[in-house]
Amino acid sequence: MSAPVSVFPRLEPRLPSVSKPIQYVGGELNSTVKDWDCAPEGETVRWALMYPDAYEVGLPNQGVQILYEVLNERDWIVAERTYSVWPDMEKVMRAGDEQGSIPQFTVDAHRPVRAFDVFGLSFSTELGYTNMLNALDLAGIPLHAADRTEDDPIVLAGGHAAFNPEPIADFLDAAVLGDGEEVVLAISEVVRDWKGEGRPGGRDELLRRLAVSGNIYVPRFYDVVYAEDGTIEAVVPNRPGIPFRVRKHTLMDLDAWPYPAKPLVPLAETVHERFSVEIFRGCTRGCRFCQAGMITRPVRERSIGTIADMVENGIRKSGFEEVGLLSLSSADHTEIGEVAKGLADRYEGTNVSLSLPSTRVDAFNITLANEFSRNGRRSGLTFAPEGGSERMRRVINKMVTEEDLIRTVATAYSHGWRQVKLYFMVGLPTETDEDVLQVAELAKKVIAKGREVSGRNDIRCTVSIGGFVPKPHTPFQWAAQLDHETTDERLKKLRDTVRDDKRFGRAIGFRYHDGKPGTIEGLLSRGDRRVGRIIEAVWRDGGRFDGWSEHFSYDRWVTAAEQALDGTGVDLAWYTTREREYDEVLPWDHLDSGLDKDWLWADWEDALAAADGADIEVEDCRWTPCYDCGVCPEMGTEIQIGPTGQTLLPLSVV
Ligand code: SF4
Repeated sequence: MSAPVSVFPRLEPRLPSVSKPIQYVGGELNSTVKDWDCAPEGETVRWALMYPDAYEVGLPNQGVQILYEVLNERDWIVAERTYSVWPDMEKVMRAGDEQGSIPQFTVDAHRPVRAFDVFGLSFSTELGYTNMLNALDLAGIPLHAADRTEDDPIVLAGGHAAFNPEPIADFLDAAVLGDGEEVVLAISEVVRDWKGEGRPGGRDELLRRLAVSGNIYVPRFYDVVYAEDGTIEAVVPNRPGIPFRVRKHTLMDLDAWPYPAKPLVPLAETVHERFSVEIFRGCTRGCRFCQAGMITRPVRERSIGTIADMVENGIRKSGFEEVGLLSLSSADHTEIGEVAKGLADRYEGTNVSLSLPSTRVDAFNITLANEFSRNGRRSGLTFAPEGGSERMRRVINKMVTEEDLIRTVATAYSHGWRQVKLYFMVGLPTETDEDVLQVAELAKKVIAKGREVSGRNDIRCTVSIGGFVPKPHTPFQWAAQLDHETTDERLKKLRDTVRDDKRFGRAIGFRYHDGKPGTIEGLLSRGDRRVGRIIEAVWRDGGRFDGWSEHFSYDRWVTAAEQALDGTGVDLAWYTTREREYDEVLPWDHLDSGLDKDWLWADWEDALAAADGADIEVEDCRWTPCYDCGVCPEMGTEIQIGPTGQTLLPLSVV
């Protein structure tokens, strides 16, 4: 194929008319532009990678940055990035010029997305689905996989939402579950071989080759059979050689994959402007609401030597002044104390500061507080008790006691922090108003303790509340989601209780969103293929950027759901506020996260027993015997943790 023409000359004259035009320009430090034909004839494999949100959210995404780099390191692969364009730019692109509309383009070389072999999208949230449809349409790629031709790329989904891609199954050619580093290369090889052989059997054969590997899901090769009551009777392969279940990928040696090594430095303002190093992957704390923890098991730590090298290299290559030590629960790294002290020593007196984006309430300690504030900068501290009452925290298996929390915040306030943020969820299974009102009591105690230990009156605490959405592959996958009306009533009662308090009310900030987006996220999280019609109708009605409150329209989703599900016997409430039974076939049962379904069910029953007062705690299998969640034997993996005993030498100041 001859190299596609850059759309930039057509774009450039129009940039002054759109907001934040710099986001469409590319050329960031550490970005890569390769020749379209970087390998011998027919052997170049080309990926367009998309984080389906605006540049300011998408650029810092670690997953996309890692894959971009891993792919571009191969001399036979071209990988470029594309992001969702804002509505003003969409208008400009659709209006186009004398050559017609301007297609969805990559920011690296402004090549049309449709010209690539693979269009890979990484979904952190299901609310990005309408943005995918918009990108496909702008790219000139048929929305439905069934309508695509040899000239269209393979549309591939990854990221956490891909663990149930059924709502977008009709729009996808394939999906991958789990860690992407190795599988993107495996996919590239299949594509290269197929192209090199002259594309035998066309698109269908390429997809077959991917599907028979057993770890790439090709929805078109599975039929969904529905029962009369609207539930799923079975999901079965519809041709020989296609596996009944598709397995997730697990990267077992994080030290061998120290990416990103060349972090992208954005030109426009983005949500995070720091260099993040993932210090471990996976979490076995066993919080029952947490899909990320469940689907990324087991825990695999990066050694402190590699962490140190990555930090030093990343700072040199990017110039970022903040380093985030990233993971699902960073303070749980077996050598976090040594990592923090070593890095603080190394960068003392420089302009480099350290931050720990997520901190468990019971793992934070004085050493960390000291180390992270050593360079004089105090990044925000967020603790996530998640449940307001002790009872709720037992239900969700987040065994943080009130004492733990108060002790931890006392440490923070006595070490100079004036403000902490506490994160909670509302709408958890078995929750009552009383459980939620306990959040206010807890916040008041936090302020009182902060005033006591610091001797100051300007102590603040921000309470941030999110609505709970039951997610696939978790023990709460069977739970009824709380309707948005009750969610909002509970939030209002809590807000009023906080505001009405004369002693503490003004010291407590309160951040929350209404429950409506959560209901739609719930629909998309646990939906099946019938939900695809709703997504398409919403997009056709103008739905874009559903993760942004200013763009989200609940009414649009409700209307689309009513129309799209008419005659199916199921509706929005059926997908969201309905509790599922043990023997119901769930839309994602054929997608294997490694978790044993019976273990998940037993854990769900334990949650209900805990709600009634049973003293059941699932401990962390890093420090207690394996409790047979199923992942390690199913995936052939094992927990990888330190301590390694390594040090962070050399301690030269950078
Ligand atoms: S199989 Fe055992 S050791 Fe592995 S993650 Fe599950 S509980 Fe932990």
